[in-house]
Amino acid sequence: MSNTTFEQIGRVLREHQRFAILSHVRPDGDALGSQLALALSLQQLGKDVRVWNEDGMLEKYSFLPRAELLTKPPSTADDVDVAIALDTAIQNRLGTTFAAIGSTKIWINIDHHRSNPGYGDLVFVDESAPATGEIIFNLIKSQGLPLNHDIAENLYAAISTDTGSFQYPKTSARTFEIAAELVRVGNLDVGQISQQLYENYPRRRLELLRELLRTMRFSECGRVASFSLTLKTAANLTVLPEDNEGLIDHLRAIRGVIVAVFFEELADGKVRISMRSKDEAIDVCAICQKFGGGGHALAAGARVRGSLAEVEAKVLEEIRGVLERKS
Ligand code: 5GP
Ligand code: MN
Repeated sequence: MSNTTFEQIGRVLREHQRFAILSHVRPDGDALGSQLALALSLQQLGKDVRVWNEDGMLEKYSFLPRAELLTKPPSTADDVDVAIALDTAIQNRLGTTFAAIGSTKIWINIDHHRSNPGYGDLVFVDESAPATGEIIFNLIKSQGLPLNHDIAENLYAAISTDTGSFQYPKTSARTFEIAAELVRVGNLDVGQISQQLYENYPRRRLELLRELLRTMRFSECGRVASFSLTLKTAANLTVLPEDNEGLIDHLRAIRGVIVAVFFEELADGKVRISMRSKDEAIDVCAICQKFGGGGHALAAGARVRGSLAEVEAKVLEEIRGVLERKS
């Protein structure tokens, strides 16, 4: 998929001055941590860097070093030399940050999603990487770019969150070596970072989980588990979109479950689906691509037009067909 090397990207980074670093809507720890890490490294080189996400910095990641650098995009477009999309499987998931780029000489696309079609001028997509943060680390190391405490902590958070705390199958010996180097170089306090990431949730997140569990259902002899969230419940609990990140793991963690699905009613007449698989033979990226989405083989998503009930029925039927064909 990649049409470029770290050397080519490194040259472009060194030879230009004005950068914009972007990532996907509804960002996760990998998107935000990778953005901040690359931005801080470029700033150390004296570059002029914008760091934008449609949703701005999320409350729960605002502990990340220099989190204040990451903002929502400005309403009037800005001209840059280089625009860099990180962790973003398709260009339209850049959301409103895309329109904030008035002009750019070069688009760089750095990602680890297998569904990434390779948009942009310089494309580096490594689907074996468990996190975009791991690719950014490799880029920084191979090109001798600055790496300090703040950069290390952002990369550590990116990798920790996208590997499910070093649990998911793409976690490799290399991932642990990178984590070790980040801890060493940045003199990181792993316990404290983990507490910020995993033991600092607002109470409403658990209240949300309680409501989701009430809707939990199983099909295909317990191989498929799902739960759903209506707009009404979300409003009653005053939850933020970011509050549900990771709750699907409760479904995936159930013995016998192969596919977990979370259905979330959105205000625009669509339903967001979030899907996880525990079996390499069941590729949820392929399933989500049927509904216009994408992601990874074991973690993917889509936004589908229709009511909650319609989308649930369609998606569960598609999963049933896939399970039937594989068994
Ligand atoms: P999540 O379920 O955590 O929202 O997303 C799981 C993975 O699927 C992420 O890597 C995310 O980038 C990707 N993904 C989620 N929703 C969509 C979507 O609507 N379109 C595409 N192309 N990818 C998605
Ligand atoms: Mn990622």
